[in-house]
Amino acid sequence: MRVLVTGGSGFVGSHLCETLLRRGDTVWCLDNHSTGAPANVSHMSGHPGFRLVRADVTRPLRLPDRVDAVAHLASPASPPDYTRLGLETLAAGSHGTENALRLARRDGARFVLASTSEVYGDPAVHPQPEEYWGNVNPVGPRSVYDEAKRYAEALTTAYRTTHGVDTGIVRIFNTYGPRMRPHDGRVVSTFVRQALAGTPLTVHGDGGQTRSFCYVDDLVRALIAMLDAPHRGPVNLGNPTECTVGELAALVLALTGSPSRVEHRPLPADDPTRRRPDIGRARALLGWEPEVPLETGLRRTVTWFTGRTAPAAARRHY
Ligand code: NAD
Ligand code: UDP
Repeated sequence: MRVLVTGGSGFVGSHLCETLLRRGDTVWCLDNHSTGAPANVSHMSGHPGFRLVRADVTRPLRLPDRVDAVAHLASPASPPDYTRLGLETLAAGSHGTENALRLARRDGARFVLASTSEVYGDPAVHPQPEEYWGNVNPVGPRSVYDEAKRYAEALTTAYRTTHGVDTGIVRIFNTYGPRMRPHDGRVVSTFVRQALAGTPLTVHGDGGQTRSFCYVDDLVRALIAMLDAPHRGPVNLGNPTECTVGELAALVLALTGSPSRVEHRPLPADDPTRRRPDIGRARALLGWEPEVPLETGLRRTVTWFTGRTAPAAARRHY
């Protein structure tokens, strides 16, 4: 297949590009490098099937070739990123999604939207099934991201019903692994960086809030299964093993043998209290199940962060 990956130089996108190349696909990696980095994909630059396009998805997209599939990942994704880039995040979810959908329509391509567990907001239903409509504050600090993705889901659905585009929606839950930016502000990258530096681990609130962490290789397998299948979704993709942020801090300290202590910070506004995917639909439709336990994935992540000089580390992983 010829696959366009928007946001391909980001954390998840770079792993997706790599796996698609490995199975013989031609990959167009489109990115404006706002939160991703060319270093994440520089090791693929010599591959005959890899094409890097520096472009903003919110501008009309032009590719010299037709594509068979579009994976639309371009969007700031970590809370500090989308807080800093609020308008850009709304633009990526709205104009960016429409440009990617237009391209898929033009080429008769399969289109998969990378949506998020954030569409459920601070969920009143636990664990979260796809039928749950969510509990989002439309004017809160997370709204630029949550509502952009909710709009992107509505737009994707409308392109399917109005224009007959073969669309699919996945709702990704917290994912971690090599190539997260050490300063992206997400909890796994922050705790690992702090533990390795011997500085305090900054636990927000009492650390009793929960998340369910999925290793990036597991997520990429599911994304590819969704690109290959005709399902419309939405389909939750995540690891259903739930843990508290306090437990995560303790695990990172144990795995790194770090002398760091835990320091509590105020809980950010609208920080979801609990989050765990119901992955029954992904199991049934895609035959997919996460395989990498948290401890194993964290060990790999710690190893990557430990020896980190970006291009060399990226090459090792490839
Ligand atoms: P990331 O920030 O590492 O990657 C996003 C990529 O999109 C970056 O390379 C960035 O430069 C690019 N980008 C942003 N705006 C763009 C624009 N206007 N034009 C072109 N490129 C643009 O984040 P990630 O964790 O890899 O997330 C990838 C996708 O998965 C995002 O859509 C995110 O919402 C979704 N997602 C990720 C997670 C997670 O835990 N990692 C959870 C839920 C959803
Ligand atoms: N968090 C934390 N310390 C940090 C960064 C995050 O305790 O240094 C918390 C955050 O408040 C949230 C959880 O960890 O409760 C997950 O945060 P992240 O930003 O990774 O993802 P999201 O909130 O979008 O799920």
